[in-house]
Amino acid sequence: MANFGFKISTPRSIDLDNADRTLYEQMLEMVPSYRYCIGCGGCTATCSAGQFTDFNIRKTHFLFSRRQYDKLTTDMLPEVDLNKCMLCGKCSLVCPRGVNTRGLIVEMRKLLLN
Ligand code: SF4
Ligand code: SF4
Repeated sequence: MANFGFKISTPRSIDLDNADRTLYEQMLEMVPSYRYCIGCGGCTATCSAGQFTDFNIRKTHFLFSRRQYDKLTTDMLPEVDLNKCMLCGKCSLVCPRGVNTRGLIVEMRKLLLN
């Protein structure tokens, strides 16, 4: 392949109509407040684990809502390693939409890591 000095990224579009919604629907039953997330990033800004590691709670639950479950179960993205969360609950306290983010992590661990 010719080297033009730049790379073209692979497409990141997701077909949500055909994506597997099973786990996402289960999550909404267990953590109903998840549907109210506006992606502001307040949870990441205050995250205790994020201060000491590269963990990113917003990216974690964002990937889950996009049904990209596989990205949460490999070592490819260390910033979404569910085991890095300390379950302190600070993210839930600051969320302007009242999303139970701590509960999200607990349920994601049950759904994806067991
Ligand atoms: S703070 Fe709440 S609304 Fe903002 S990204 Fe986190 S979960 Fe979503
Ligand atoms: S519960 Fe987890 S994601 Fe939330 S602030 Fe604490 S360490 Fe971060």
